[in-house]
Amino acid sequence: MTNEAMVIDLRSDTVTKPTDSMRKAIEAAEVGDDVYGEDPTVNKLQDTVAQMLGKEAALFVPSGTMANLIAIMVHCHKRGAEMLCGDQSHIFKRETGGAHLTGVQLTPLKNLPDGTFDLNDLEKHVRGSDIHEPVTMMVAVENTHSYCGGKVLPLAWIDKLAAIAKKRSLMLHMDGARLFNASEHLKEDPSRVVRDCDSVSVCFSKGLGAPVGTVLAGTKGFIEQARRMRKMLGGGMRQAGLLAAAALVALDESLPSLYSDHRRAQYLAKSIKDLKLKSFSVDVENQHTNIIHVMINEKSTVISKKLVERLSIVSQSETNKDCKTADSKGIIVKASSKPNDKTLRFVLHHDVNDDELRLAVKKITFVLKEVESNG
Ligand SMILES: *Cc1c(COP(=O)(O)O)cnc(C)c1O
Repeated sequence: MTNEAMVIDLRSDTVTKPTDSMRKAIEAAEVGDDVYGEDPTVNKLQDTVAQMLGKEAALFVPSGTMANLIAIMVHCHKRGAEMLCGDQSHIFKRETGGAHLTGVQLTPLKNLPDGTFDLNDLEKHVRGSDIHEPVTMMVAVENTHSYCGGKVLPLAWIDKLAAIAKKRSLMLHMDGARLFNASEHLKEDPSRVVRDCDSVSVCFSKGLGAPVGTVLAGTKGFIEQARRMRKMLGGGMRQAGLLAAAALVALDESLPSLYSDHRRAQYLAKSIKDLKLKSFSVDVENQHTNIIHVMINEKSTVISKKLVERLSIVSQSETNKDCKTADSKGIIVKASSKPNDKTLRFVLHHDVNDDELRLAVKKITFVLKEVESNG
């Protein structure tokens, strides 16, 4: 056993540490009381993001979860309201059921593997004329779609969805925690991607690598209401310019390099596919962004939790067989067993460079081959 190992953390793009330039910007940030609307750095971030997204206004909030919750609170302002969203969406599965705080009924639509849902299915679910039924007021989509493996929603699909939403008087919210990954993949301006959305949230603590924060954007009227809801939820943050300063650096410095995360994800996906193992597969053709799903063959008894455990230890046999760094340290890869026990997930982010990626591939190759040969 080696006592020291190199750790490459591919669990999520949230694990990044603020860069030196972010720390410098935090130190130099001009601040004020943002609950009074007087923090110049927060105002600058909000204005910048609103402009990038082609929206009238924006609001800095502590997290993506709070941004989504606020969007629901503002759009679903009637009692007995209902929101439709994908059954694999972050809002539905990963926000602690928080929508119950709003009194809004969430009705899930079956997500397809590409992160979309069937639009006929959506239309069938819109209701409200019968007094026995909730009033469908809102529909939410996720772009990129995390639990569908970082899939980018097709623009044509969003356009069709938006037309239906308009016709049926539904508000359209995009959970764009990774919106910039989507626009990078599409080579489209983010404002085009969210053109027909009534609101959109963008996280700075994911691929953009800032420590904290999400921006929610929409019309002036929407943001006025959102500001009240943020206060109600305890999300008024006073001298939040310290956080906004790091987010502004992320726009300048991390945004232009998102394509590198995608390129590295492609490389990792292809490296795994090229092993031609029976128990594991990766859909390289539909590898859009920075999240990689390795599917475990249904017939295999292996579950992803076991793979995650195995990747996190260093065995004698692997260091004997050159699965180690140039200075003979063992390699540990942190991964996750999401969204289910037949999926092993890796996420690329700006704290992983090409050298670390190559070492990660070495380790992953070793472990997958070992697991396959052990049955
Ligand atoms: C991370 C994430 C969020 C919000 O997460 P917070 O941890 O609350 O900032 C929302 N939606 C998606 C798709 C996410 O990946």
